[in-house]
Amino acid sequence: MGDYQDEPPRLRAGQPHCPYCGLPVDRVATPEHDWVLLEPGMAPLAHVVPPQHRWIERSDGRVTVYGVSPPDPAQRCRVEHRLACAAQPLPDLWPWLTALRTENDRRTRRTARDWPHAG
Ligand SMILES: [Zn+2]
Repeated sequence: MGDYQDEPPRLRAGQPHCPYCGLPVDRVATPEHDWVLLEPGMAPLAHVVPPQHRWIERSDGRVTVYGVSPPDPAQRCRVEHRLACAAQPLPDLWPWLTALRTENDRRTRRTARDWPHAG
């Protein structure tokens, strides 16, 4: 006891790296006392990023999701590295579009059943 073997990784030297692809990432605290790995060196305009995937920096240095819709046209945000990571599957970025596709798939199957192709 009394040694520092268990100090958190953020206190060690060097930039953290993605455990999946090995590229450097920014490890930033969230208000929930958790961490998020952000893509370093970029801050796209918020309106080009799906609402639940926009992270903005608060005055205390933590980042929080900026789900305001429509967003301030000049607001920039950070994106999670996992959205840009080539070694991880892309999450469902637009759930309402996925729901619409699912519904359209059902409609297509219904139409195919009701209107069978001749021959
Ligand atoms: Zn990665």
